[in-house]
Amino acid sequence: MNDSCASPSSVITNLPVRQNLSAAVSAAYAQGCTGAVIVLKVSDLTQINHWHGYEAGDRVIEAVMNRIEPYLSEGYFLSRLGGGHFLIFLRADQGEGVLENRVNHLMSGVSSPIDFGGEALLIRCTAGVSLLPNEAEVTDKLIRNAELALGSAKVGRYAFYTEALQENLASEAEIRSALVGALDRGEFFLVYQPQFCIKTRKAVAVEALLRWQSPSLGLVPPDRFIPVAESTGLMPELGDWILKTACGQASQWLMAGEPLRVAVNISAAQLEDPKFARRVQEILAECRLPSSWLELEVTESMLVGPIQDVQTALQEIRRAGVKLAIDDFGTGYSNLAYLQHFVFDTLKIDRLFTNAVLETRAGDVLVKAIIAMGMELGLEIVAEGVETEDQKGALEALGCSRMQGYLFSRPVTAEKIPLFQLSE
Ligand code: C2E
Ligand code: CA
Ligand code: CA
Repeated sequence: MNDSCASPSSVITNLPVRQNLSAAVSAAYAQGCTGAVIVLKVSDLTQINHWHGYEAGDRVIEAVMNRIEPYLSEGYFLSRLGGGHFLIFLRADQGEGVLENRVNHLMSGVSSPIDFGGEALLIRCTAGVSLLPNEAEVTDKLIRNAELALGSAKVGRYAFYTEALQENLASEAEIRSALVGALDRGEFFLVYQPQFCIKTRKAVAVEALLRWQSPSLGLVPPDRFIPVAESTGLMPELGDWILKTACGQASQWLMAGEPLRVAVNISAAQLEDPKFARRVQEILAECRLPSSWLELEVTESMLVGPIQDVQTALQEIRRAGVKLAIDDFGTGYSNLAYLQHFVFDTLKIDRLFTNAVLETRAGDVLVKAIIAMGMELGLEIVAEGVETEDQKGALEALGCSRMQGYLFSRPVTAEKIPLFQLSE
């Protein structure tokens, strides 16, 4: 490597973290280098500790530490901040493009699954990055900016700090108060992302995705406001609106001779309602939508723990003809035992696996195993988050023919959906 700024890498653990970072930042400035302060967090640590025990959590932390180390030759890894957070400093003398590439590589490098007692634990790392500006900036501010960027990043992804973020990033408290009455004021809408059958080149289903246009906060991403809606008890009512709107839309497509199955994300709060199964059937009847045109997406995390009631509700819904999908399959707490208790129609391979298929051999092997297992169980397999032709080709070669992702289409409003098909 011919990075003239590269100095012997050092893992400094015996000095206060901020002092270390200050020293590294000053050295980078003195040598005319660019640099990035990264706050990286292991996103599912609480769940991993909860479902697999603290030993599993420790193993994940250790694996992430070990995986960060190879990047030390390109700068300094500073410290573990505790609670599954790490502070990293990368530097380069070749400008921001090179640095962004390094951040990208680091994120792919830390996120592949680890083997824990024969079970694959998927690691989702999320990071916020603040790049060094031209003038020396106080270290505390760089860390704060990276943390702010972390707050805006989707789980399993990274985001760079920008000034707009400073202005736009709503605090949880602001989100909580702006959510009051938002449903009645008509601030929510749905967008739809098609799922394609690669063989027929046609859209076979769409996933309904919730959007919130808040007059005071702007367009707030669902990853930010849905957890708040869940914790404030808004989700049963909002979930009901989502189901009604999505079923109403599917019914319109059906009547227009453009039938498409609609997949709706269900939150834990909805599933916990003992009347949920009945409510789904009422909505189907109100919308005059035959049940097989609706698919409900539930995540694995809803199926662990005390599952008797959830199992009964899902079975009733499925007996009524509604399809069931496991969403985000394999993300962190997969305990395959639940597959014996639940009957599904569709398995959605999480975007992290779609990324992993080309990245590492372990990723490729894992995706192959998931597809083989899904087929064995008679499930339809959908790969999520397909962004490149290479990923599409690799997944197709592994026998997966239903796909969803930016390569084909971003989520769009309902009127853009009919007649969606892949170009030659
Ligand atoms: P999800 O259910 O896994 O939804 C897929 C997410 O991946 C969507 O993000 C979609 O826009 C994004 N996506 C699709 N293709 C690609 C791709 O090729 N690359 C990348 N990078 N991303 C892609 P979105 O709409 O921001 O939703 C995020 C999450 O919020 C959803 O994850 C889901 O957990 C939750 N959510 C969204 N709408 C609803 C809803 O109506 N109800 C509930 N309960 N949760 C929802
Ligand atoms: Ca989903
Ligand atoms: Ca998903």
